[in-house]
Amino acid sequence: MQYVSTRGSAPVLGFADVVLAGLATDGGLYVPQSWPSLPVDTTGTYAELAAAVFAPYLGGDISNDTMLRLTRDAYATFRHPDVVPIVDLQPGHKLMELFHGPTLAFKDVALQLLGRIFDHILTERNEKVTIVGATSGDTGSAAIDGVKDCANVEIVILYPKGRVSDVQRRQMTTIDSPNVRTVAIDGTFDDCQDLVKAMFNDAPFREKHNLSAVNSINWARVMAQVVYYVEATRRLSGPIDITVPTGNFGNVLSGWIAKQMGAPIRHLIVASNENDILTRFFESQNMNVTGVHPTLSPSMDIQVSSNFERLLFEMNGRDGGMTSAQLQRFRDRGMLNIEQDQYEQWIAPTFRAARANDHDTLSTIRSVYEETGMLIDPHTAVGVKAARDLAEDGVTMLTLATAHPAKFPDAVERATGVRPELPEHLADLFSKPERTNDLPNDLVAVEAFVAQR
Ligand SMILES: *Cc1c(COP(=O)(O)O)cnc(C)c1O
Repeated sequence: MQYVSTRGSAPVLGFADVVLAGLATDGGLYVPQSWPSLPVDTTGTYAELAAAVFAPYLGGDISNDTMLRLTRDAYATFRHPDVVPIVDLQPGHKLMELFHGPTLAFKDVALQLLGRIFDHILTERNEKVTIVGATSGDTGSAAIDGVKDCANVEIVILYPKGRVSDVQRRQMTTIDSPNVRTVAIDGTFDDCQDLVKAMFNDAPFREKHNLSAVNSINWARVMAQVVYYVEATRRLSGPIDITVPTGNFGNVLSGWIAKQMGAPIRHLIVASNENDILTRFFESQNMNVTGVHPTLSPSMDIQVSSNFERLLFEMNGRDGGMTSAQLQRFRDRGMLNIEQDQYEQWIAPTFRAARANDHDTLSTIRSVYEETGMLIDPHTAVGVKAARDLAEDGVTMLTLATAHPAKFPDAVERATGVRPELPEHLADLFSKPERTNDLPNDLVAVEAFVAQR
């Protein structure tokens, strides 16, 4: 299997090179040259299913036995025997809990595996990399946890000082591994992201330190997430719709890929908070950029969903030049639209969309608690609200629960009066010492910090 860039001019690469590259050199995202089918045998444990789903994507770069060892290790860190258990919410509506990994958000499903894939490839090649990333909360802690034991990876995560929650910050700053460093930047999340982009654009710096990225555009993250959609279809029978609390479109894109591979999913419901650029797009076929509003579901506070580019490439008949030109116009004018026939072929049969504002989020957390005694986090609540709006009789609705309620205790307490407790493995989070570094919003200072060992 080879991979091509959505912008058509970067070199075609194999799996291992795509994983290490993250972004393609033409600014595009890598996608496989074709969509393989699901494995014939989908029995076995979650880790066995994962290795079988990945096999056609690896192109011999990682043997199936090695991949099975990596998936077993990665999913052994999850604190539920089913890895991603399904629980009942109300008749015909279930939740898939994706938050039983070490840092309590669904990002662990991909990043526990990605850290191990990185380590394996780098050990084979006898190379080292420095991962630099910016986080508004969940990605940083999941990325750090995924690589904290990797001898060939240094990781430096920038976060906006005072703008991530205490739980999120402590999940990053209390990890006591020599290869992990965190930096509180005097600025916003966008400032952190701009610093990371500037380091990647500084070619001599990038090469000298062998910079690498694990943000949600990395193909291996999207691939890893395909598995729980397949898992959902093997555990539930009859037609199913799956609702996905969405930010960068990474998670729901994985659902679309599962469907391309043959998983019997009917609709994928894109659930947005007030930052509803995707919901507006699915309603009107026009993508219009507006500002970002902070909400109670901060991991979905996104202006432009980077992974949407992979679907756009497909809608453009896999024409990279056309996709690249369309995205350039989008950057210049803040507007993107697709043709009616593209909408009818690619969007209408599969995607639905709905939104929930902060008021809906709180009232959904409250009603779920009153009806079931279950606490759900605000991101999951956006999904549940959208799912309830679009549920149909005779079709099983599955909403993906993307974070543990204790990761966002303030919103949950505001809605229910109950403060969710951290699970046992994190019970000492607030007594562990924190290690972090304060830096100004200044590229020279941040590069000097990354350069020092
Ligand atoms: C990252 C995140 C999301 C959004 O996922 P995308 O793949 O960016 O669409 C939703 N919920 C939680 C809790 C997250 O951490």
